[in-house]
Amino acid sequence: MPESVSTHPNVTQICDSLRARVDLDDDDRVIGTQNTQKPELYGWTGDIGWHVDNKGDVYFLILSDSTGVLFAEGETPISYSQGDVIRMNDFTRHRVEQNGLAVGLFMGAFEYGDDTKAINALTEAVSALTEQYKSNYDNAPRWEGSPLQDNECYIWHFDEECNYERTLLERATDTQGMILTCSHDGCTKPASEIDHHFPYMSDQNRCTTHQRGLR
Ligand SMILES: [Zn+2]
Repeated sequence: MPESVSTHPNVTQICDSLRARVDLDDDDRVIGTQNTQKPELYGWTGDIGWHVDNKGDVYFLILSDSTGVLFAEGETPISYSQGDVIRMNDFTRHRVEQNGLAVGLFMGAFEYGDDTKAINALTEAVSALTEQYKSNYDNAPRWEGSPLQDNECYIWHFDEECNYERTLLERATDTQGMILTCSHDGCTKPASEIDHHFPYMSDQNRCTTHQRGLR
């Protein structure tokens, strides 16, 4: 694992968030995925009890310098460490024993996994995490749905589907789009959490400071 992966802002973001969760319940000690079928950052801290995710074949690649054991019902336990890739059908009940935190790349879920395709995509994703953050912003995997980092924002291009794009703040100021901002009294920071009724309403837009819940 290239050393520079651990200092990529997307990786430090998820590590920091996991460190703040060590005393929470199992559900909150896992940072989950959006199942985009592209490499996504995810992680957990401490042991996670038996559960099923019921999505399909998934791949994960351990990025952090940490070790643990994956138990899946009816299978021999697998000890994992940095750089390992595991394929799992997550309809199978599973649990992990983990010392400290683990951060990995996740890819899935698939009805049938394709090992070659997955390994290629995961390898490219690792390489993207070794490159300069800003110049390779679009290609680097992230914790999907993560709170905005300080140099990011969402912009809306006034399209009817109301898609908003996550991008670098410095890039957004050059576009015709509208930067979504926090609706908390007097706050002008970019919104990290967007009102579910946007663009009809934006009262619930919140920056990372005024966002509720875990971040
Ligand atoms: Zn705010």
